[in-house]
Parts: sequence; C-alpha cells; structure tokens
Amino acid sequence: MSDEEAVKARARFEQQVIDEAPRLKREDSFAFGCHPGVACFGDCCGDVNIVLTPYDVLRLKNRLGMSSEEFLEQHTILPFSKEQRLPAPLIRMGENDQKSCPFLNLDAGGCTVYEDRPWACRMYPLGYAKPGEAQAGEEAFWFLMEEKGCVGFQEKTTQTVGEWITGQGIEDYDEWGEKYRQLAVDDYLSKESELNPQQMQMFFMGTYELDSFRRFVFESSFLDRFAVSEDEQVRLKDDDEALMEFAFRFLRFSLFGKPTMTIQDATIQDATIQDATIQDATINGSAVPERTK
Ligand code: SF4
Ligand code: SF4
Repeated sequence: MSDEEAVKARARFEQQVIDEAPRLKREDSFAFGCHPGVACFGDCCGDVNIVLTPYDVLRLKNRLGMSSEEFLEQHTILPFSKEQRLPAPLIRMGENDQKSCPFLNLDAGGCTVYEDRPWACRMYPLGYAKPGEAQAGEEAFWFLMEEKGCVGFQEKTTQTVGEWITGQGIEDYDEWGEKYRQLAVDDYLSKESELNPQQMQMFFMGTYELDSFRRFVFESSFLDRFAVSEDEQVRLKDDDEALMEFAFRFLRFSLFGKPTMTIQDATIQDATIQDATIQDATINGSAVPERTK
C-alpha cells in the first residue's frame, strides 16, 4: 500500500471510529495504562501514520538541534493528494520489518523524544473530534481508539479525559493546534479556489519551515516593506513561538488579504506588497510537492 493509500485508509478507519465509538466528555473516565512493562511496549511506534502539526515540528526540530528544513527532509514524508487542501507531513518510518519510528529505541527506554513527542503520540488512545460549521450546535468530543494488539486497555489504571490531557502535556499542543486550525479553516480557503503552487509554498514556509521563514524576514526586503518594531525583531530572531505567531499573522495578510500587517509605505497598495512578498517567498522557501491524483 502506498503512503497515500495508507493515509486514506487510516482516515476511513478514524471516521468509522468517530461515527460509532461512544462520545466522551472531559469529566468521563476510561481505563487504560501504558508503561515499559506491557507486552506490546513500542509496538504502536511502528508502521503507523503520525501526522505532524507545525508545533510538533517546532518542538521536535529544537529537541534534535536541527533546522526545520533538515528535520522535514530527514524525518518526514509529504504525501499530497487531491483530497487534501493543505500538505501535512508524516513521520518517515524506518525501512526495517517493523517500519519503526526513527525516535524509538527500546534499549534506551522507548521514545527518545518523549518530552517533545507529537500531539498524536500524546493523545493515544484518545481521539478528538471538533464538528465543523456545518454541524453548528454540536459540541467537540473525545472517543477511544483501540489499536489491534494494544493491551493497555487491560490495565486497571483509570483517569478522566481531562486528567489524561493534563498528564500527557497536551494543553500547549492543543493551544497551538487551535491557532493552526483557525488559519487552515480561514474562509478564504473555503470560499476561494485552492492556493496556487506559489501561495502553497508560502503557506508551507510560514507554518512548517520556520527557519526558512526567519531567513525570509531578515534576509530579504521584508523589513523594508513591513513595519516591525525593534523589540519584535529581537523576539523573532530568537523565539520560535513568537516567530510562528508572526508567520500566521503574515499569512493572513499575504494570502487571505486580511489587514494583519502594517506596511512601511502607506501609499503602496496591499495587493502590490502581497504579490512581491509571494515572489520573494518562492525564492526563500523549499518546494511543496505537486498534488497527486
Ligand atoms: S500498543 Fe498500547 S499498551 Fe502497547 S505500548 Fe502502545 S499504547 Fe502502550
Ligand atoms: S515519536 Fe515517540 S511515541 Fe511517537 S511514534 Fe515515535 S517513538 Fe513512538
């Protein structure tokens, strides 16, 4: 099965679970435990699709001391099908029989990036569904996903959904996940035609390729075009989270035409600046693959 087919099969499985599994609220309890003593320890860290959010990439690349581009190149794949509106990298699993996650080392106790593991790894066995605008009035809910061979459900430990979220350190990830979701569901993207390749490249750079975005800000004519205070420039140089906030703001301006940036020369039209910065970004960013059929 190709990467794309595997992603689609996984999406179908998750949709089926969402449709059929009992819906949990934050205060509902469930029995589950995972620790190095379980017989299946590490089995779920192989041959699995771990979709990475921009915040996952930020945490992992800093953990590993790599640039975002090095991390994406070395540790991710980027299948991009017609059904996807936006590209979403997956962890590149190993080529051994188990197709193990590159961060798994059972001799070293399991996940070697545990404190910075991705949202999806923290959440399991919980899934989360947030109804879209079409289901106005429906509340978000959690549900349990039981993977084949997972004996964690036989453990006696019980916890509420809220306790799991806090205990796994999911809150920061949820906060950034919501910021990214707001960007990805912007009405421009739902109402207008899809982003062209140059716009897509800009979007990818401002979300996943943060170190390229930083170079774009400081090594192009960006600061001649936009008013960015000295204090903010200092923050953007050193603080990846501040840079990501700024990048999301910039994408709203440059791609969606929102008044989220201040232009240096007020006599220049926003649209002129948008076109010029997209050209610059194309030079600075790396290529996002063409959609496959
Ligand atoms: S399969 Fe389940 S119990 Fe086993 S290591 Fe993974 S999460 Fe833990
Ligand atoms: S990042 Fe860690 S927890 Fe997630 S699949 Fe890889 S080894 Fe397992």
